Amino acid sequence: MNTPLPADYHTHTRLCRHAGGLPIDYARAAADRGIPEIACTDHIPFPNDPHPSIRMTQAEFAAYLDHVREARETGFCQVLLGIEADYQRDLVHGHIQSVLDSADFDLVLGSLHTGPFWDLSPGDPTATPEFVEQMNRTYYLRMAELARTGLYDVCSHFDIVKRTGIHAPAALLAEIVPPALDAVADAGMAIEINTSGFDHGAAEAYPSLQILSWMKERGIPITFGSDSHDPSQIGRHFEKAMELARAAGYTSRAAFRRRKKALVPF
Ligand SMILES: [Zn+2]
Ligand SMILES: [Zn+2]
Repeated sequence: MNTPLPADYHTHTRLCRHAGGLPIDYARAAADRGIPEIACTDHIPFPNDPHPSIRMTQAEFAAYLDHVREARETGFCQVLLGIEADYQRDLVHGHIQSVLDSADFDLVLGSLHTGPFWDLSPGDPTATPEFVEQMNRTYYLRMAELARTGLYDVCSHFDIVKRTGIHAPAALLAEIVPPALDAVADAGMAIEINTSGFDHGAAEAYPSLQILSWMKERGIPITFGSDSHDPSQIGRHFEKAMELARAAGYTSRAAFRRRKKALVPF
């Protein structure tokens, strides 16, 4: 018998402009794949959006809530209302907080997408050891900052700084990652195993097995997220992600309802 797959807590619909499908399409695809529960987690709208290509506008937010409600009513699978509330220092306590207060979210993902790591290719002459070190230091300081806002439930793609395949030296990670994990643990947040990394230059899950082991030591719960940008990607690589979680000692994951978490076995 196949092991049942866990909930997929990271999906993007076509409101994000770089993704396809609506919540109802994801719910149907999840049911076909044997996934009992999904969270819709489109990017939070920003005022005067610097990245209009990746997120809904503020005017579309009401439609987003409607699409999620409609998917929930079909009964294909459980559908949670989530949001990926990208951390941005100057927006966090004003705009982001007010969007989070404006709907009954089940879970809120916190993530970072801006920085040289996003598209710096391995082999680029800019990517000197000093630059890579600074890029990683800055990234993990921001992750700790994100956690300390207290606004988020789950850290998304926690070590996405390795996205294009530029992996920091192990000794540096051992110095700079644990303090960020301490901040996440203090905030009572979970960290997702984001399986999109298997399909990126990083060629492994976010986060790595080493980071998962440090998380386990701190009692940080996990969720699973495909970061799907098309319904066909729902639950991608979840079998590998479950193996990875078990290798780090995990036997349970966090389940969310109305921003309260409970641990369930997987
Ligand atoms: Zn993201
Ligand atoms: Zn995402």
